[in-house]
Amino acid sequence: MSSVEVDLLGGCLCGGVRYRVQGLPNSPCFCHCNTCRKAHGVSPVTWFTISVTGLTVLNTASLKERASSAEAVRSFCSECGTNLFFKRLALDEIDIATGTLDDANSDNLPVSVIPVKNIHTESRCNKLMPNILAEVV
Ligand SMILES: [Zn+2]
Ligand SMILES: [Zn+2]
Repeated sequence: MSSVEVDLLGGCLCGGVRYRVQGLPNSPCFCHCNTCRKAHGVSPVTWFTISVTGLTVLNTASLKERASSAEAVRSFCSECGTNLFFKRLALDEIDIATGTLDDANSDNLPVSVIPVKNIHTESRCNKLMPNILAEVV
């Protein structure tokens, strides 16, 4: 189902960070963890994973990294604050925040980046969930 290679562009809100992601994504998910919630200001955060060789950062001027634990760093734009990447130091792969893809809202979004699981549901914001797919007026 998710064995579709991608070639996608993305970036931060201000355009200071631009990237291209190519290859075969894996583990597309909704993450409900508290660090994603705080880092992005929303929950869940949508992610997919790609080999580090599949990510090309085209414009790094405002890209900053911050350790979010002893094992991982998060990358963000120091100008506009957009959180973009999550990397476990021990792994040769990196997580891309799906919402930073230019075409995240396209009906043609590749199936291989569409979430297939929820993780860290122990910290899910249950009170924020019921209307997520409902029309709220
Ligand atoms: Zn920016
Ligand atoms: Zn998370």
